[in-house]
Amino acid sequence: MPTPRVRIAPSPTGPLHIGTARTALFNYLFARRHGGTFILRLEDTDVARSSVAFEQDILEGLHWLGLEWDEGPDAAGGEDRGPYGPYRQMQRLERYAAAARGLLERDLAYPCYCTPDELEADRRAQEAARQPPRYVGRCASLTSDERAAREAEGRTGALRFRVPAEKVRFEDLVRGEVEIDTANLGGDFVIVRADGTPLYHFTVVVDDAAMGISHVIRGEDHLSNTPKHILLFEALGHAVPAFGHLPLILNPDRTKMSKRKSQTALSDYRAQGFVPEAIVNFLALLGWSTGTEEEILSLDELAARFDLDHVQKGGAVFDRERLEWLNGQWIRRLPEDELIARLQPFLEADLDAGRIDRLPAPEEIRALLPIVQERLPTLGAIGDLVGFLWIDQLEVDPELLVPKRWDAATTRDALGAARDTIEEAVGPVTFEADELEPPLRALVDARGWKAGDLFMAIRVAVTGRTATPPLFDTLVALGRERTLARLDAAIELLAREGAAA
Ligand code: GLU
Repeated sequence: MPTPRVRIAPSPTGPLHIGTARTALFNYLFARRHGGTFILRLEDTDVARSSVAFEQDILEGLHWLGLEWDEGPDAAGGEDRGPYGPYRQMQRLERYAAAARGLLERDLAYPCYCTPDELEADRRAQEAARQPPRYVGRCASLTSDERAAREAEGRTGALRFRVPAEKVRFEDLVRGEVEIDTANLGGDFVIVRADGTPLYHFTVVVDDAAMGISHVIRGEDHLSNTPKHILLFEALGHAVPAFGHLPLILNPDRTKMSKRKSQTALSDYRAQGFVPEAIVNFLALLGWSTGTEEEILSLDELAARFDLDHVQKGGAVFDRERLEWLNGQWIRRLPEDELIARLQPFLEADLDAGRIDRLPAPEEIRALLPIVQERLPTLGAIGDLVGFLWIDQLEVDPELLVPKRWDAATTRDALGAARDTIEEAVGPVTFEADELEPPLRALVDARGWKAGDLFMAIRVAVTGRTATPPLFDTLVALGRERTLARLDAAIELLAREGAAA
């Protein structure tokens, strides 16, 4: 195999899509595994929909995932790196024009003067006859006089590529032998519009050829484009690269992944506190498997193992629960300092949104890591999990406070007893989880309560929530004074509610 040169070729017409990230990852892994080159090319010819902001989102997303490219634009709106530049299609227009002239001179393409109305009438007629849409070839054999006459009328032609009648065959690296009859391609297709702008099928081939791309690895949605691309490579006199089409990413209901049913922008996952290690791990397994039981793999470990042989043909279901599980696994593996640093922006966001009243110091977070690190499905869940520690005035829902088997009076009585037990049994100096538990259990036994009821009432009283890290660790994190004050407040709340009832 030649040393691979592979590319990801996103259009900056939207934020980095999770499917594009997967394609980028597979190309990256393929290049790294085989000592090849990974190229980023921006396909920005849709000027109306492209923007520098989307470009920035795409580049930053790839950087964040750690998918560093060897050639391509360095930063949004910035300079290029690599010998085959420029790597933005809008800076390569003269190359497409030159390639188009070459095809025209060799009569492998021809100007087409059909008007939109003519083409629309063709389409309607085909629809009425229940035929698939195809170009009828009205301009395919105009003489040079006929062309000149149309030009003299001030009409400019689009450029159509002459599709030869043949069967295009190729060995797809994922799907095996593929054969497509060019009769099914819809006839001669436009490669340059009448206004001179080149179209995707053409620019992609001109660039893949010019950039020496050896393997085109992309989503299965492009499979039907590949015969057109092969014909163009041949017409331009270039070696045809190898092709591999990755399985579609599916919603859980097995429809094609869509914005409507799934979250598709990578930046949204990032904003929710997914870590890049987990996303990379998850995306790698979206259509590929190690062939072993191994599931938790870093980017480097993936690059050492990746091969196209283990890419599946069938669609790959996007299982968000698995992503969350992997995210939790990777959060557990983060070194303490790293996790503390990565939690910081999420805590700041909680503060900005008024969900907490103060920002904990890094050392305060470090002390909490033993009870939170393995409980975080995402970094963004930190506030949900222990935000009650950084709230001045805890709001408690009195209904949550009363366990099912108890009434308000019992709860008030129990919380009062628990409060006194905690105050008496545990001195102000050492306030440790293993000192809190025995006296409270003794209280439960003495009163004939269920431990779960008392502990739930205490949990809600001091955190406002029914699900928290282990209760006694939570009390220790809150500290003696705040624990007692919150219990007092809950008792008072129940008294007020009782009086109002
Ligand atoms: N710009 C195209 C896209 O984003 C690239 C497709 C290809 O890889 O050929 O879908």
